Amino acid sequence: MLERVPLLERHLDDYRPIVGDEVVERIRTLAEPLRGARVLHLNATAYGGGVAELLATHVPLLRSVGIDAEWQVMQGSDEFFAVTKEVHNALQGAPVELTPQMRRTYLERVLDNALLLQDGWDVVVVHDPQPAAILHYVADQIEAFRDTTWIWRCHIDLTDANHDVWEFYRPFVQQYDASVWTMPEFVPDDLAMDRIVQAPPCIDPLSVKNLDLAAPFCTEITRQYGIDPHRPIVCQVSRFDPWKDPIGVIEAFRLVRESVPDAQLVLAGSMATDDPEGFRVWEETEAARAGDRDIHLLSNLHQVGAVQINAFQRMADVVVQKSLREGFGLTVSEALWKGRPVIGGRAGGITLQIRDGFDGYLVDDVPSCAQRITDLLADPAGADAMGADGREHVRANFLSTRELEDWLGLMGTLRA
Ligand code: UDP
Repeated sequence: MLERVPLLERHLDDYRPIVGDEVVERIRTLAEPLRGARVLHLNATAYGGGVAELLATHVPLLRSVGIDAEWQVMQGSDEFFAVTKEVHNALQGAPVELTPQMRRTYLERVLDNALLLQDGWDVVVVHDPQPAAILHYVADQIEAFRDTTWIWRCHIDLTDANHDVWEFYRPFVQQYDASVWTMPEFVPDDLAMDRIVQAPPCIDPLSVKNLDLAAPFCTEITRQYGIDPHRPIVCQVSRFDPWKDPIGVIEAFRLVRESVPDAQLVLAGSMATDDPEGFRVWEETEAARAGDRDIHLLSNLHQVGAVQINAFQRMADVVVQKSLREGFGLTVSEALWKGRPVIGGRAGGITLQIRDGFDGYLVDDVPSCAQRITDLLADPAGADAMGADGREHVRANFLSTRELEDWLGLMGTLRA
């Protein structure tokens, strides 16, 4: 059997005060015909990155409406994750060659996982490319999976995908009954599937990452990390990944400091178990920091967990997510929900979340990022007003209940 991820509890009714009775009732109605259905979510990591963050809430919420849902993770290996990170980069547009050896490493490991997959599921949702080929290996066990509906959830922006790598994946993906995407623009033109659905990710307002925290508590946390709570704080929370452009953020910050000399930068990023590039990018970022005491480079290795991220986002005068490519970028909604304006790279799902000039700004390069940060630091009342607009935008569009509704609707149609 594949490894089961332990889940916390979530209760739909706890979301009533945040999203209102009508949303909760709609969800209950959609869930009714699916009561008792066995639903498996399968991905590559239980920790680090947006997918793990999403599933930690989505699966417990499915359970709270009567669905027998589970989250399991595939077993990888260093070699496997080195290949799948290259695949991830290639699908985001990097010039990567998938050699026959890499394909073999990938397929052998997916086959090992297919052998561990239990049967009896009504719906299996497979996330991202890492486990995508698993259906190929179980497809001939017709009896065991006779009644299973298979959904592939792609969290990546494939607009510029490397052709050969996508061609390798496309036949695997086309075996699924449906695929779910963050934005319609991400779907390759040559994907031949009957059901292609859009359902962007969401954040959980009740998770430790997003719960309201008292101001003195946030102040104390930042102080403990050597950050001065009384000076301006600019913050980016991201895995150490070249696509998140931490070095670009440092370059922008250096420009900002020419006019706001007492500004501080917090770059907080966890190391995900399926991301072997993290340590290298960390070292490059550390080199770019060049010992600057006002650039705080932090990770889970410094005990930075959900509470600390929550506090840093709340304490930030401006939050940045300067991604060059981005599937969604949960960190944007996380910050907006906390009433902070966000300056984001004009990439993928960031453009869904930031309404340019309302909740923050979309930027295309280091100088414009620096300019927007400087402007917002000079106008705290304007920054707060943008953050307040952003919070309502997130309430209406990017809270976990919206995602739950989307998925119940989709499963209901596919199982009807
Ligand atoms: N995150 C975290 N600690 C960190 C860095 C990131 O908890 O040090 C979380 C972040 O708050 C967000 C998720 O990891 O919930 C990252 O999701 P996102 O969609 O922004 O990017 P991804 O990592 O999936 O590309």
